Amino acid sequence: MQQLSETILRDQLLASSRKLVGLGLNKGTSGNASVRCEGGFLLTPSGMAIEEMSSASMVKMQWEGGFESGKKPSSEWRFHFDILQNKPEINAVIHTHSMFATTLACLHKTIPPFHYMIAIAGGDTIRCAAYALFGSQALSNNALTALLERKACLLANHGMIALGRDLEDALAVAVEVENLCEQYWRALQLGEPQLLNVAEMQVVIQQFKGYGNWAL
Ligand code: 13P
Ligand code: ZN
Repeated sequence: MQQLSETILRDQLLASSRKLVGLGLNKGTSGNASVRCEGGFLLTPSGMAIEEMSSASMVKMQWEGGFESGKKPSSEWRFHFDILQNKPEINAVIHTHSMFATTLACLHKTIPPFHYMIAIAGGDTIRCAAYALFGSQALSNNALTALLERKACLLANHGMIALGRDLEDALAVAVEVENLCEQYWRALQLGEPQLLNVAEMQVVIQQFKGYGNWAL
């Protein structure tokens, strides 16, 4: 559990949201992000472009279900809420409509172990959650199923979700998942990618336990 003050977390959430746009992972009002804080979590506001957002725009959500009056939390508050409730090791959630993840999500593709870096998401696949309406409880339920023992998933006909022990980690996962989706998409243009087998991926997953900041 992070011990940072709410003020610092609000600033970090704004900075991460800006980075997502700066890196081209989100555009306009697409996507959202959250970070765990004392008594609940902070969430980006709904339908607001990054230029309009300040640290004060971030919406404090309570575990009891309430939120700061006069503000409108992201329409995806349900999956942010459910992920943070169900995964105590996760403190930050990022959602993007980034180009390559969304392209593959529109094809309902689960990303297979075509590259060893797939392991950074926690296993030998990055699953695609079944389609459900944005902002719905069904979407949150489908996302949780796809995120079983994973730090990332695609959302059919929508985008991706990346998780982290903090915002920096979640951002790194989002960047790498988008990178993997582009590589997979490019490989598919030339043929059928050769996949790593279960034994090869098990060794990779084992090796990642002590590699850089990717500890699973
Ligand atoms: P919000 O602006 O309500 O966060 O919605 C953006 C989005 O990506 C919905 O899935
Ligand atoms: Zn979305």
